[in-house]
Amino acid sequence: MNVEKYSRQILFRPIGREGQEKLLASKAVLVGCGALGTAQANALVRAGVGALRIVDRDYVEESNLQRQGLFDEKDAAESLPKAVAAERKLRAINSDVHVEGLVVDVTSGNIEDLVRGYDIILDGADNFETRYLLNDVSVKLGIPWIYGAVVASSALTMTILPGRGPCLACVFPGPPQGLHETCDTAGIIAPAVGWATSIQVTEALKLLLGRENQLHGSLFAFDVWENHAQQVRPRIDPGCRTCGQRVFTYLEEGGPTHVTMCGRNSVQIHRRDSRGLDLKVLKARLEKFGPVKANDFLLKFSLEPYELTVFPDGRAIIKGTQDAAVARGLYAKYVSS
Ligand SMILES: [Zn+2]
Repeated sequence: MNVEKYSRQILFRPIGREGQEKLLASKAVLVGCGALGTAQANALVRAGVGALRIVDRDYVEESNLQRQGLFDEKDAAESLPKAVAAERKLRAINSDVHVEGLVVDVTSGNIEDLVRGYDIILDGADNFETRYLLNDVSVKLGIPWIYGAVVASSALTMTILPGRGPCLACVFPGPPQGLHETCDTAGIIAPAVGWATSIQVTEALKLLLGRENQLHGSLFAFDVWENHAQQVRPRIDPGCRTCGQRVFTYLEEGGPTHVTMCGRNSVQIHRRDSRGLDLKVLKARLEKFGPVKANDFLLKFSLEPYELTVFPDGRAIIKGTQDAAVARGLYAKYVSS
């Protein structure tokens, strides 16, 4: 161990040298690498968590840079996938950590394989569909996860210990009312992200160090603009479909074929039967219709007023609409034909 690198953290009594060894031997998986994800990844890699897997389906855009701390203008200009850009930055920050970035859309079909064998799951997702999927897999496999969400200036977080405390579905059986605002409609400021991720990362360190008695044990909310804090202690709901009845609706249903994304006027299309695409062939075909840009990870095709970003696994993000039917039509015409 490079003691000098972690010297200030080792001096912190609850961690110490032994704790640092524990962190270096632990494994975390992060789902979603936007504002919450980049902040958590940055802190955990600097803290010397041994392995970090980052799963994200999106690419870097200029509008991300105000709050997504691992990305820069060059990443946005190159439309680098967030998982790829994050992996590069994080490896340069701490080469002790095994960082793995995966450009993948998390679904009911792949989530178990993505998180199995990890000590902890970190929430960097931007939608409740994905969070219920995380909650299902956490309870099913017995892996703790740390929920975090931010809209405008208000942040909310909760640590879920499967089998030992309430799960997300105990607290919110359905997507919470009043939280239907997204960063697309209400905006978001970086300090609110900072608050949520400070709590999430601290909880992660406590869990990885085996200090469960130090966890805050609550549904913890703070509005950094209104200076309003709220902490409630949720209870296990014995009738909870997830941790009570062990019915894993989100794992079993198989996700939808389209998702409207947060933060952009866009729809994602994902065919579950996709056999993958040859982007070079697709590029040659699409150049007849409009400008096409491609890198090793994705292809971008402009067709005013739309822009299609296509990934090798057959997934596409259709920008310029929130209408799933319009997006499906564009996909059928230009990508799957
Ligand atoms: Zn529950």
